[in-house]
Amino acid sequence: VHPRDLTCGWIKVNPKYVPSPNIQEVVIGALEDQKKHFGYNVRFDYPRREGIQKLPDAFEAKIKNLELNTNLSRVNIRKKVAYFDGGKIEEKFRFLVSTVPLRELILEIIEDVPGKVKNAALKLKYTSVLSLNLGIKREEMDHGHWVYFPEKEYLFYRVGFPKKFSDEMCPPGTSSVYVEIAYKPGEITPEKERELIARAKKDLIKAGILRTEREILVEHRERIAYAYVIYDRNRDRNLEIIQDYLRKKNIYSVGRYGGWKYSTMEEAILEGKEVAEKLASSAL
Ligand SMILES: Cc1cc2nc3c(=O)[nH]c(=O)nc-3n(C[C@H](O)[C@H](O)[C@H](O)COP(=O)(O)OP(=O)(O)OC[C@H]3O[C@@H](n4cnc5c(N)ncnc54)[C@H](O)[C@@H]3O)c2cc1C
Repeated sequence: VHPRDLTCGWIKVNPKYVPSPNIQEVVIGALEDQKKHFGYNVRFDYPRREGIQKLPDAFEAKIKNLELNTNLSRVNIRKKVAYFDGGKIEEKFRFLVSTVPLRELILEIIEDVPGKVKNAALKLKYTSVLSLNLGIKREEMDHGHWVYFPEKEYLFYRVGFPKKFSDEMCPPGTSSVYVEIAYKPGEITPEKERELIARAKKDLIKAGILRTEREILVEHRERIAYAYVIYDRNRDRNLEIIQDYLRKKNIYSVGRYGGWKYSTMEEAILEGKEVAEKLASSAL
C-alpha cells in the first residue's frame, strides 16, 4: 500500500495513541531528555508471573459454559444457526457476537453473503507478523522495555524484553527477547520462515542485542496471520457496508479483528463489556 493511500483513521480509536505536544514541548524534546510522559503506554500493568496469559485465565475462572478450542466454521443467517467444528456442534442464536477476523467471517463463514458485502470484505487490507521468541543465556539485556526499528537495514520492526515487564518472566541467569517481523499475508512458506528467522538473528547481533547465536537457549515462533489492520482510503467505507449488513442480522463483529481496527487488549475488554451490557438490556 502506498503511503498516499493511508489515512490516520486509527488515531480515532484512542486519541492517546499519538501524543500531541505543544510547540515548547517539541523544542524541549528535540534539545534535551523529555521528562514529561507522553503517549498511552508510559504506565501499564503486567502480571508479575506467567505473562499476559494470566489475564484471560482470570476471566475464564469466572465464566460458565465456556467451550474452548471450538472452531466456528459456518453461519446460516436465515436459520440463525452457527455451526462449529465442521458441523459437529450446532447452536441456534438470536444475537451473535464474533471476534473472528471480519474478512474471514464474511468470505469464509457466513453463508449467502450479498456480492456487494463480499466485495467490501475483499478490499480490507492487513499485514501478518511472524513472532519470534528467544530464551537467552544471560541475566540482563539492558535495552529498555521495547525498541522500534524503522530502519530498512533491520528485518524486524520491534524487539521487546519481557523481563523488563516482570523479573519473574525468566528463570535465574536467563532473559528473553521477542522479535516481530511483518510480512504480506499469504507470502510465507516454511522455507521463507527459516530464512526470515536466520536473518532476524543476524540483525539482532548487528543491533547489539544478541552477542552471538550461541546465547540462544530456546526458540519459539508463531505466525500471526491477522496482525495489523491497514487504514487505507477504502477501509471506512467498506467497513461500514459490512457492519451495516451484520447489524441488520443481529451479528456484532467486535474486537481488534472483528471490528477491523487498531486497538489494544484494554479496548477489546471494554468493548466486550459494552456489547454484553447492550445485549443484556435488549434481552429484558
Ligand atoms: C504483534 C502484536 C503485538 C501486540 N501488543 C500488544 C500490547 O503490547 N498490548 C496490548 O494491549 N495489545 C497488544 N496487541 C493487540 C492485542 O493483541 C489485541 O488488541 C487483542 O488481542 C484483541 O483482542 P480480540 O479479542 O479482539 O482478538 P484476539 O485476541 O485475536 O481474539 C480473537 C479470538 O477469536 C478466535 N477465532 C478466530 N477465528 C475463529 C473461528 N473461526 N472460530 C472460533 N474462534 C476463532 C481466535 O483464535 C482468538 O482467540 C498486539 C497485537 C499484535 C499483533
